[in-house]
Amino acid sequence: MATIPVENPATGETIREVPAVAPEDVAALVERARAAQPAWEALGYEGRGRILKRAQQWLLAHAEEVADTIVAETGKAREDAMLVEVAYGINALGFWPRKAPKWLADERVRTTNPLVLGRRMVVRYRPVGVVGVIGPWNYPLVNSVGDAIPALAAGNTVVVKPSEVTPLTSLLFERGLHESGLPEGVFQVAVGTGETGAVLIDHVDMVMFTGSTRTGRKVMERAAQTLTPVSLELGGKDPMIVLADADIERAANTAVYYSMQNGGQTCISIERVYVEAPVYDEFVAKVTEKTKALRQGPPNGAGSIDVGAMTFPPQLEIVEQHVQQARDAGARVVAGGHRREGAGRFFEPTIIADADHSMTAMREETFGPTLPIMRVQDADEAVRQANDSAYGLGASVFTRDIAKGERIARRIEAGAICINDAAVNYLALELPMGGWKASGLGVRHGPAGLKKYTRQQAITTTRLALKREVHFFPYNARVSNLITRGIKLFYKSRAR
Ligand code: NDP
Repeated sequence: MATIPVENPATGETIREVPAVAPEDVAALVERARAAQPAWEALGYEGRGRILKRAQQWLLAHAEEVADTIVAETGKAREDAMLVEVAYGINALGFWPRKAPKWLADERVRTTNPLVLGRRMVVRYRPVGVVGVIGPWNYPLVNSVGDAIPALAAGNTVVVKPSEVTPLTSLLFERGLHESGLPEGVFQVAVGTGETGAVLIDHVDMVMFTGSTRTGRKVMERAAQTLTPVSLELGGKDPMIVLADADIERAANTAVYYSMQNGGQTCISIERVYVEAPVYDEFVAKVTEKTKALRQGPPNGAGSIDVGAMTFPPQLEIVEQHVQQARDAGARVVAGGHRREGAGRFFEPTIIADADHSMTAMREETFGPTLPIMRVQDADEAVRQANDSAYGLGASVFTRDIAKGERIARRIEAGAICINDAAVNYLALELPMGGWKASGLGVRHGPAGLKKYTRQQAITTTRLALKREVHFFPYNARVSNLITRGIKLFYKSRAR
């Protein structure tokens, strides 16, 4: 069996060789999942919830081991692993089993159409069957395992295809689920390359994909062959708008944290900032000072660093190119700006002042510890520039005038906007999270983020005592006249 080497990006050392699932073996894995699904569905919300809550206890008990695994395969700071990933997983394992019975309960529907009055109408949510979750390398717990949890709570079985760069977290979580009593075949991990992911699409009943826009398009194209539904969480270029009346200290802290956290390798990182002219210099100065104070290097236990490594090798080149192109086009690099020498893959926390839209750093997803900042004349220009993007994932607005902030939020073309904050909407699993434009299709989280793992079924019951006639045949002049008069009478009475 072929294996995939997993590397620690912070040290360059190989951590482990992991057996890979070849594309031709994917069908058998999905067959196992399909065979396990009816019994898993039959357990009901309560039975499934009991196991998922046991998994929540497992994750709590193994929080350190899981965080260590995430840190080892991504090179991120330990606090990023604990705060964002482990905490998310613990929350999700409690949240989805609690919400599923309510959000997926049968819905009684009343109709206004006189032709079907008197019938009992129910919408029912049935699991799709086998869900394929394909995940990226930047959040191996949140974006691979995390998306599997609602799918499982809804009664599906799941095959996860983690990024080949970071498969260890999914494998560890698989162990945790089995130790929590999850039946065989309900959750499986298909470690493999992109081709393994592509073949998975051919066999499953629904695909939950998180990754780049480029691969997202390929996933949708492939899924079209089998008419398999897809949910796509793709790239972003999240703008932040800082108005002249903002709390500049808070705005600067937010800008630095949400652009550098996880080494900037977050889909909803702040990727560009627009600052109103009167506070531009003050904002740039604060952000520069705070960025220069950040510590970077191989994570070595609690509190050892602030910004970790670049997880995916080609990403380092992309970041370097964006910074260099901005320099060449006239921007000022006021903090960082270079890859670090020595072992491991690191790019210095970098601030690019005086940026504009001629620069790739303002237009394309950089996905690294960089923050380009642009001066704008007013809020209208800021909104115009924020919307001048192929992406539409998240955005943030900073102002002391909350009403104004909310008005601006409604003008921004993105799936989630925070006012005087950034990215925190992701933590509220009650809220839908999904991109507009090239940032995706569909949502995770919220009721829609659970219902997408189901098929809707409408059941209409006609009680026999109510209705003897089941048809209008034969169509003759009398029937035709009755139909016309009946429709007119009904809607005229309604219009009054
Ligand atoms: P990729 O699109 O390169 O890869 C994502 C996953 O798809 C990986 O598991 C990859 O496998 C697999 N894959 C590759 N080719 C195919 C294919 N043809 N068919 C099916 N699957 C395939 O993304 P990255 O891993 O580079 O992740 C970074 C991107 O993810 C960024 O753009 C980021 O913005 C986005 N992202 C979006 C989020 C959101 O919620 N909107 C959240 C987190 C990240 P392999 O790695 O083995 O090649």
